[in-house]
Amino acid sequence: MPEVRSPRSTHRRHYFWFATVVAFILLVTVVFVFAQHTSSPASAAQSLADTDEQRIAELVVANHILFDQGVLDGFGHVSVRSVKNPKHFYMARSLAPALATKEEIFEFDENSQPIDPRGKRMYGERFIHGEIYRARPDVQAVVHSHSITVVPFGTVNVPLRPIMHMAGFLPQQVPVFEIRDVKGENNGVLIHDIEAGAALAKVLGSGPVALMRGHGMAVAAPDVRTAVFRAIYTQLDAQVEAQALALGNPKFLNAAEAANVNKVNEGVVIRAWELWAPHAELATAPFRAGKP
Ligand code: MN
Repeated sequence: MPEVRSPRSTHRRHYFWFATVVAFILLVTVVFVFAQHTSSPASAAQSLADTDEQRIAELVVANHILFDQGVLDGFGHVSVRSVKNPKHFYMARSLAPALATKEEIFEFDENSQPIDPRGKRMYGERFIHGEIYRARPDVQAVVHSHSITVVPFGTVNVPLRPIMHMAGFLPQQVPVFEIRDVKGENNGVLIHDIEAGAALAKVLGSGPVALMRGHGMAVAAPDVRTAVFRAIYTQLDAQVEAQALALGNPKFLNAAEAANVNKVNEGVVIRAWELWAPHAELATAPFRAGKP
């Protein structure tokens, strides 16, 4: 005799399957959200608020930090790519980086021309930034510095190499851009057009830093904080290397050591940023208020 199911037992069975499916979906959601937040806290935090407004706010602080840490002085610049229009980027007008405020940040197009210059003068070397963004879709931030510890390595036949663990991002030999290759010997050393900027971006290749002979360096990174980190530690690595070379025959980080330690360092850039930022704000605020 076949079993006769009461309507009540059928309801219970349906309810059981419904509850199981809901519980499963909830579990998958919780695991997914948890994984997103724990796999990379820094990048997760960044992606949550990754707007142009947020990037511009960080860019202003980056200007102050790079002055405070001696990477920029009255000259040099830092920029960030736009999120809403990735062909465009943001950078201060022509002014000393320590004096940058969000009102002094301008938007530039893919040919490094300001969208609305508001009658202000722009940095002559903005093509460094525009051409690196054009050549490198992975790059979100660029620094151009005349760091005095770095300049010597662009002028001699001794390569800048990773020698201290905080500079593990450096390649085994940092490339050097020679402007005479593009502009000959009678045109100065500044990057004043797309042609020179594109040639510099080509020398940079897929790397984080290119030296510029007799001039400085260009630093590329996946975000503003990492760009600041790399610029500061390229400057310090150059200082350590010069000192070590003066002492004798230094042992450098090999590629495996550099890659290994860099993975750790670039996961904790926030630790340095949280110190550099307030230090720089304290140090530079009086200048922006016009009462040093
Ligand atoms: Mn320059």
